[in-house]
Amino acid sequence: MDETTRALQLDVATGLSAADAAARLARDGPNALPEAAQRSALLMVLHQFKSLIVVLLLVAGAVALVMGDVIEAVAILVVIALNAAIGFVTEWKAASAIDGLRRRLVAVAHVRRDGLEHEVPAATLAIGDVVLLAAGDRVPADGRVVEAVRLQVDESTLTGESLPVAKSTEAVASEATALGDRRSMVHTGTGVTDGRGVFVVTATGPRTELGQIGALIDDMGAKGTPLEAKLRQLSRALLVVVLVLCVVIILMGWIRGHALLFMVEVGISLAIAAVPEGLLAVTTMTLAIGMQRMARMHALVRRLPAVESLGSTTVICTDKTGTLTRNEMTVRILVVAGRRLAVTGAGYGIAGRLEEGGAPLDVASGAAHDEPVRLALRIGALCNDASINRAGAEPVVVGDPTEAALIVAAAKAGMEHAALEGAYPRLREIPFDSRNKRMVTVHRAPDGRTFAYAKGAPSALLDASGRVLDATGVVPMTPARRAQVVATNDALAGEALRVLALAFRELPEPFSDDDLTRDLTFVGVVGMMDPLRDEARATIALCRTAGIRAIMITGDQQVTASEIARQLGLDTDGAGHALRTLHERDLTGLDAEGWKAAVTGTAVFARVSPQHKLQIVEALQQQGEVVAMTGDGVNDAPALRKADIGIAMGIRGTEVAKDSSDMIITDDNFATIVGAVEQGRVIVENILRFIHYLFSCNFAEILTVFVAIMIGWPLPIGVLQILWLNLVTDIFPAMALALEPSAPDVMRRPPRDPSAPLMTPRFGWLIVWQGGVLATCTLAAFGFGLRAYGVEGDGLRHAVTIAFMALALAQVAHVFNARSTTRSMFSTGGAANRWLWGATLLCLGLQLSAVAVPLLRRVLRTTPLTLSDWGVVRGGGGPPRAPGGGGGGGACAAALAPGVAGRRAGARSSLRAKAGHGGGTDDLGREDATKGAASCRASEPPRASIVRASPRNPRAP
Ligand code: ADP
Ligand code: MG
Repeated sequence: MDETTRALQLDVATGLSAADAAARLARDGPNALPEAAQRSALLMVLHQFKSLIVVLLLVAGAVALVMGDVIEAVAILVVIALNAAIGFVTEWKAASAIDGLRRRLVAVAHVRRDGLEHEVPAATLAIGDVVLLAAGDRVPADGRVVEAVRLQVDESTLTGESLPVAKSTEAVASEATALGDRRSMVHTGTGVTDGRGVFVVTATGPRTELGQIGALIDDMGAKGTPLEAKLRQLSRALLVVVLVLCVVIILMGWIRGHALLFMVEVGISLAIAAVPEGLLAVTTMTLAIGMQRMARMHALVRRLPAVESLGSTTVICTDKTGTLTRNEMTVRILVVAGRRLAVTGAGYGIAGRLEEGGAPLDVASGAAHDEPVRLALRIGALCNDASINRAGAEPVVVGDPTEAALIVAAAKAGMEHAALEGAYPRLREIPFDSRNKRMVTVHRAPDGRTFAYAKGAPSALLDASGRVLDATGVVPMTPARRAQVVATNDALAGEALRVLALAFRELPEPFSDDDLTRDLTFVGVVGMMDPLRDEARATIALCRTAGIRAIMITGDQQVTASEIARQLGLDTDGAGHALRTLHERDLTGLDAEGWKAAVTGTAVFARVSPQHKLQIVEALQQQGEVVAMTGDGVNDAPALRKADIGIAMGIRGTEVAKDSSDMIITDDNFATIVGAVEQGRVIVENILRFIHYLFSCNFAEILTVFVAIMIGWPLPIGVLQILWLNLVTDIFPAMALALEPSAPDVMRRPPRDPSAPLMTPRFGWLIVWQGGVLATCTLAAFGFGLRAYGVEGDGLRHAVTIAFMALALAQVAHVFNARSTTRSMFSTGGAANRWLWGATLLCLGLQLSAVAVPLLRRVLRTTPLTLSDWGVVRGGGGPPRAPGGGGGGGACAAALAPGVAGRRAGARSSLRAKAGHGGGTDDLGREDATKGAASCRASEPPRASIVRASPRNPRAP
């Protein structure tokens, strides 16, 4: 060890100076592993051109060129560019959201510099830094151990060895020693499972063992989510359907007499419109934006798929202390040697005093009679790793609040922590762990004797105590005295107090570790209060309405836990049936069936150890539940990994717990978990919203053209118009739908079944129905146009413009339907998100410019519309007049409402469209290039063959 430190020229007690550390960092580079190569912006742009759509567009462009239509070919190039731009923006937005989050997930290290302890980002460690390790830490760099107290490290990431390895300061034999046998070295990426230690950094970043084997930081956005997989499947199925339909349309059009090349172009543009190519990108963006939103609400999602699982969560298993309660401990009651003392004052301020029977008690005066009380307070303050920083206005607790409360209690009795530590130096310790539920320290008293001071769960210390301190002094622990302690404990626990027992032993010389946990003398118990979080009760109630089961899992005892559950309203289910509190002893030796029974009807698990958490998760998952589980300690890691959503505590959580989690909540608050679940639901719902919107609009486009061709009408929309719709009325509203902030009743519904298909029959029919209505309205408007202006030349162009506008405006209005699959645009409430309004206005503006701007008019082959045309367009599907206002909206959009009333309105609207401008016979059956390019034989009688007109039709006579 001395060799190492000498070589590194430093003193372990003070560490590097800040300046020295900075210089070394500058010299050696950051202590970070190379990240999985970030996709450059250029690559992302290029990626946009790799899609099927681009191929289709290029073919369409080529066809246009062959047909000599330069304007159209150029326009298609513009479409390709725009398409790529939109794709790029979505992808970039998703990537930057994920990136921003990754930057917030920095690992920290505890380092000693200039003689003081600091918490610094692990990336800033330099060679020679003195780093402190405690159970639950990730080892942040490679280094030489210079201090080890029962230090155990899990090195499975490096060596594959699953058992923890004990570390010591003994030098290893030689350089050649195998990695797994280097007992005095610790390595990056391994985790401290037990004990504590100090090491001197010898290698950082890529020069660590982990860096040498070329490990990369796992890229959290790279893996596809289950939702994306489902979407990919759905898209593929849709692609086949669309391509088949398009081929049918091409053939039918050709048979009906359109030029083949022209029909190919129409078919391709329809395929482009109908293939939901942006779906995956928008989905990823939605998930990523959701992640960003959650981060603002203190929930840092570490893996993208977690966003989606959150929305389907059916059970939340949560810790009690600090999550449902505030974890602001205050000692209230001290029961020592048969005396019951009250402690006044709240929080970590030292204002307060001890009282006995209502009268103040001064234990510091030194009366021999009060020695047991002083002993109890001393044990509490010395068997303790917390400290309280009183430099600022508010006292700041460093360490465990349970321990800080004991320091405060002693201080209120005039026993200062620092003075005690000076008088009773610590020789050894057994750190607290949640399995043994106790902590022991060894101290040398001023008179030279050596004592073990222990604190922990009363049951744990009772088992280790052979004697007990009562009013007469130290007496043997008899069953009756034990029963008395238990009764005291139960009384305090019944008041929802956290009870901690205190014990001691005078140690023989020499003593072994085993001596520290047997033959103790039981001194007394303290009862501490931990107030509930303000929002906890309401959040539990919210879970209930949302169909989510909340289960409290605590290491605390049964009586305290039940009382807190009662105060939270956790003790009954939605129907008012009482729920159980189970104790560890109810869980030992259970088989699979037993576990299944145990998790049914249980709201509280008390006194459980971390490994029970794993079994609880498994039992719940076997019953088909989607389980979210919280955890903070190193032992919680397996349960966190097993849970569908492992949630680590940002404040209390260890690095190992955080590493094993899917989400970190930075405020340790239960309400944050439920908020994240709500966001998860909203996000999945938003994805369904834009699927709903995109699919019904795309279907409407295909259907309009398909029906027109089938009944022998001219083409109602032109190629570029279809592409325009695809870019204008599809993309912007769909993206805006992805940004809906919430749905008012999202937490009043049961969770979504994660195994349910995206496209349920009901959803599918809704889309078909709404697409059908949109198409009907468009065709009705087109029919009017044809009748009013004729079926050829400029008249047709005029009619096509009407159809085009009707479809576009109907789609824009339809956005407001897509906000909910259960309610129509008139009942979802007007408070749509501002993006949606923005997108609506943008679309309206662009759509108007399509007939108002001469250039666009030329490219899109539209004509200016008359006032009565607008009436038809609006009747067909204009936008709503006012947000959520009844009756003002386009009749077509109203018809899309999933209710019968809407259906009737729609029927009426199309009737009106026909009746209002009706001529006699249904004699529209003509065609020409939708592009209005050609002149045709005006003399053709109605219903005559549609074949002849088109100059593009090679088969025309
Ligand atoms: P929880 O925080 O949910 O109560 P823990 O596993 O942290 O669960 O604690 C279990 C029990 O161990 C507590 O009820 C308490 O009796 C005891 N305990 C908690 N913290 C300490 C500590 N720092 N020292 C000794 N005993 C403790
Ligand atoms: Mg705890």
